[in-house]
Formats: sequence, C-alpha cells, structure tokens
Amino acid sequence: MPDRLPGVPSGPPGLPELLDLDRRHVWHPYGPMPGTVPPLLVESASGVRLRLAREEHGRRELIDGMASWWSAVHGYGHPALDAAVTGQLRRMSHVMFGGLTHEPAIRLAERLVAVTPAPLRHVFLADSGSVSVEVALKMCLQFWRSAGRPEKRRLITWRGGYHGDTWHPMSVCDPDGGMHALWSGALPRQIFADVPPAGFEAPVEAAYAAGLRELIARHAHETAAVIVEPVVQNAGGMRFHSPGYLRVLREACDEHGVLLVFDEIATGFGRTGAFFAADHAGVAPDVMCVGKAMTGGYLSMAAALCTERVAAGISRGEVPVLAHGPTFMGNPLAAAVANASIDLLLGQDLVQRVRGIESALRAGLAPAAGLPGVRDVRVLGAIGVIQLDHPVDMAAATRAAVEAGVWLRPFGDLIYTMPPYVTDDDDLAAICAAMRKAAVAG
Ligand SMILES: *Cc1c(COP(=O)(O)O)cnc(C)c1O
Repeated sequence: MPDRLPGVPSGPPGLPELLDLDRRHVWHPYGPMPGTVPPLLVESASGVRLRLAREEHGRRELIDGMASWWSAVHGYGHPALDAAVTGQLRRMSHVMFGGLTHEPAIRLAERLVAVTPAPLRHVFLADSGSVSVEVALKMCLQFWRSAGRPEKRRLITWRGGYHGDTWHPMSVCDPDGGMHALWSGALPRQIFADVPPAGFEAPVEAAYAAGLRELIARHAHETAAVIVEPVVQNAGGMRFHSPGYLRVLREACDEHGVLLVFDEIATGFGRTGAFFAADHAGVAPDVMCVGKAMTGGYLSMAAALCTERVAAGISRGEVPVLAHGPTFMGNPLAAAVANASIDLLLGQDLVQRVRGIESALRAGLAPAAGLPGVRDVRVLGAIGVIQLDHPVDMAAATRAAVEAGVWLRPFGDLIYTMPPYVTDDDDLAAICAAMRKAAVAG
C-alpha cells in the first residue's frame, strides 16, 4: 500500500465516502470543480447492462442506451473481447512504438486499410479521437507546407460539427457549441459554411451545394483541408444530412486543390447503417479518422488514415517526417481488442443488424412525435433522436430515464440513444419508452 494522502480515509471506503471523494477531487466531463450533479457509481457491466453500486430511483441495473459514448458496440464483458485482452496481457501490455513494432498493431493497420475506402493505405495510431484529429490536420497542413504552400493552413468545415476537445479540433467544432466566443483570439480562425440541410433522404439543395463550392473556391489559396463528419453530425446536434453533400465536397476539393478529411470517429464501424458513413456516398477522403467503437469500447485508441499521395507529399518535404508520437501509441492491448472487435463486426451481417435496430427505434420512437414539447423525432441506423423545442432539463430527464431502467445522457435540446448493437428488441423498446418519458419530464 502506498502512503495515504493526507485527509483521505483509510480502508475500503463506503459508498458515501467514495462519492464524497469523487465530488471533491475528480473532474468529470464538461463539469465544474467541485461537481454539482452527483454521478451514479457503476460497480460492473455485463451485456448491455450497467450495475450500480446502490439502487437509484428504484433501479440497481440500467440498460445502457449510450454504449459508453457510442463505443461499446458489442456490449460489456463480451467473451471474444475479454479473451483478446487477457491473451495479449499475458504476452505484453505495452511497449513503445518508436523503433519497435508488434503483431497486434500491424494486424490492426491491415484490417483498417481493408475496411476503409480503398485509397486510404497508411495508418497512424493515436490514443484518442481528438488526437487522431490533431494528427489528421497536422498531416494536411504539412502536406501543403512540404509542397511549398505553407500559406495553405486554414480549414473549412460546416457549422454544427464536433471533432474533439483539444485545440485544433476545437477550432472546427460548431462555433457556438464549441464556445468560440470564449476563445476568440486564442483559437485558430477557421472558415465555416452553414449547417448542411437536414435529412438523410432529402435531395441535395442546389443553392447550398453552390455555396459550398463557392466557399471552397474562394478560400482554396489559404486552405489546407475541408473536415466534416460524414452523414451524421453527432455531438454537435445529432443531425443527419444527405450523402450527396460529400460528393459535392469531394468534387470541389479536387477542383480547387484542397484535401478532404472525414471524421468517422462517431459514424464508423456500422453506426449509420453502412460500415463507414462515407460508403453511403461512395466517396473516399484523403484522410480519415476512426475511434470510439474501434476497440469495442474496451480501451482508448483511434487512428488517422491517409492516402499514398498525402504520405508521399509529407515525406518529400523539408522536414520529411510526421513529428508525432504519443507515448502509448499502438498500445498492444488496445490493438488486440480492436482486432477482435473488427472481426466480430465482419463476422456478422452488420448492415442487417443495424437495420433491425433502426426499425425497432423507428417503431419505439414514433409515438414521441405527438408528445408536447417535441420538435422532431429522427432515426438513422442505430441512432435514435428526440429533439425538444426547448433545452432539456438534464436532471429531470436523466431521472425519468433511470426510473424507467435506462441510462441516457441528454444534451442541448436532445434526448438520444446510440445503443450497443447487441441490444435485443425488448431492451430497444425499453430504451425508447425511457426516451419518451425523459422527453416529457425534461
Ligand atoms: C468523440 C468524437 C471525437 C473525439 O474523440 P475522443 O476520443 O473523445 O477524443 C472526435 N470526433 C467525433 C466525430 C467524435 O464523435
């Protein structure tokens, strides 16, 4: 036992002590310090259920409608994923990636190249989604610097996006949601198009498409890349748009000499009903980020993939290396479980499975359209959204969902689910019922 910190009680602390320590010392996402809303303490998780350390609002177990921020697609304690981690643990948990390599990372790169759009051939493993976006953007800026065009270092995106919480990703998040006003003068100033018109099935709006082309043409001389979340804008508002806009972006980028980055960290690995959202459009980006579901939610790992052209461009430059190398790059445990997770996805009819979830969510959420305070109900793949006409009362909505036996994490004016793919129809119905209750309460 290490020496105790002063003021920290000894022994296995009881629940009140744990929660008090949490409140005093642990900084939770998007929260103040000390925290104001007590989090629920999870003791264990199995299948699609979180087991709480104590009963909360009459529930000890919650169906996880969030899949741990969209990552635990196979649920918790999956035998194949457990075996991959423990098997790798017996060999080695980590070695540095500079000058060394290992089979789990090599096999992961092989799989990622195989499942992503064909021109993507090179894989940079990062330790989180935000870092993979940093790397993707560094690749793009360095590509142009190496080509003797260092002035091409701005980025174009559309409003309503989310690309992570580190600095460069923050600069391409939605300016309001990303709190750009707070950071004005500090964040790099990027170039924003309007939010893409809503609707996966909606026809491409000619005026919006023309605006995109015009913006790219006008700023191409100073722009390294366009970066977007394809088909679904996730944490920026759970909005769906036509894959047609991705084709517009691809054409305009090619015409004006701008790179195209797809951030598939949320949409990748089946979530939207295709293996990657780019597949809906039949479009390949120059650089692509994947993360979240890549390890089945077991460990933190993400990747930035690029084409031969991008890699060759960088490697021809005055500084012919990509100067990036996280300490835990290529972590063997994470790579091993990512390989097992991808194999599980490839070993089933994933599109069919996600379509099944989509039907269940459509059926379960349709009645929400008639509820008071509901502005919109939308479903795409394994994503179900109830949008209110007012900001959600987070505490009330969360409580209503917990009372209904479901874990949800609403934000903004949205109550949504991105459940594990292994959620059965009864549990999907329970998630939808809880979302309807949360919509009324929140
Ligand atoms: C979650 C997310 C990120 C950031 O990933 P982290 O692993 O949380 O750093 C980036 N882009 C998109 C689209 C995301 O959904």
